[in-house]
Amino acid sequence: MKLKFLGAAREVTGSKILLTADSGKRILLDCGMFQGKGMETDDMNRDLGFDPSQVDHILLTHAHIDHSGLIPYAYKMGFRGSIVCSNATRDLCSIMLADTAYIQEHDTKTYNKRRAKKGLPIVTPIFSQEDAKECMALFIGVPNEMKFRIDNNIRVKFTNTGHMLGSGVANLIITEDGHTTRLAYTGDIGRPTNRILAPPKPFPQADILITESTYGDRLHEDFVSADQKLLETVIHTCVDKRGKLIIPSFSVGRTQEIVYSLNKFFNQGILPRVEIFVDSPLAVNATTIFRMHPECFNKEVLRVMETDSDPFGFNSLTYITRQEDSKRLNDYKKPCIIISASGMME
Ligand SMILES: [Zn+2]
Repeated sequence: MKLKFLGAAREVTGSKILLTADSGKRILLDCGMFQGKGMETDDMNRDLGFDPSQVDHILLTHAHIDHSGLIPYAYKMGFRGSIVCSNATRDLCSIMLADTAYIQEHDTKTYNKRRAKKGLPIVTPIFSQEDAKECMALFIGVPNEMKFRIDNNIRVKFTNTGHMLGSGVANLIITEDGHTTRLAYTGDIGRPTNRILAPPKPFPQADILITESTYGDRLHEDFVSADQKLLETVIHTCVDKRGKLIIPSFSVGRTQEIVYSLNKFFNQGILPRVEIFVDSPLAVNATTIFRMHPECFNKEVLRVMETDSDPFGFNSLTYITRQEDSKRLNDYKKPCIIISASGMME
């Protein structure tokens, strides 16, 4: 078999690895998008480095855009194989790829206005919302730990990494010429403790290990002091100063952790009586998907759910889904907490 590194080995974002088995079968490990500012990375993204119509399968470790974002583009360019990942990853991709397509269309429109002024020809977005929607038909969700066969020679199993909802190591066992090779591709690996997600699971020994660590050099704050700081900030801003507390937050992952902490304060009776709004359509949809996948939660969250069936909802919390309600927040005069969007790579 041969391995070709197409993205993350040189760059921080845009993971793609093409595995070509001796049988000729081609498997792509992740199909990530380079993320930069505006249209700067557009050319890099359009040059996949392989012919997507010749790829048989994509194995996807998790739904972050730097690992999944070019799936609609591969589809547009002729990929018609299967995309295999965990059930939660499939569900998250359905909203995150649609969101990315919307951003691509929007950015291209702005870019074209500037080009038109300079008399340059207009460009088309790398992929459309239609491509993002249609490629979802190729997804196959499998539970973590389930062993499945791609063909007679290749077996696969995903094991939890705790990096984001649904994330998993792709563990492959490849038999060629009577010789067996174990390959583990980790994608990003999570922190050993996460407020919501089950901790990473040790994965089987491998002959070839491909791993990534985007934020490996950063220390993460411990939860108890982070929660304490959050509560103090809420009291200081909303009670003492009678102001609005705006928390920009990643829509998928971080928002649900903040909501989970606020829900805990609410259950303990220590949350000040102020209205709380989640003002990001992607975050609202992502929270719905979190609720659908308790199989990804850690023991503490499952224990909380024995008495509180929705750890992402309580009386004073409103999820905003309509644009007019979002605009109305600008005129909201009372003290409140607004959790808003701020990108999604983590
Ligand atoms: Zn990631």
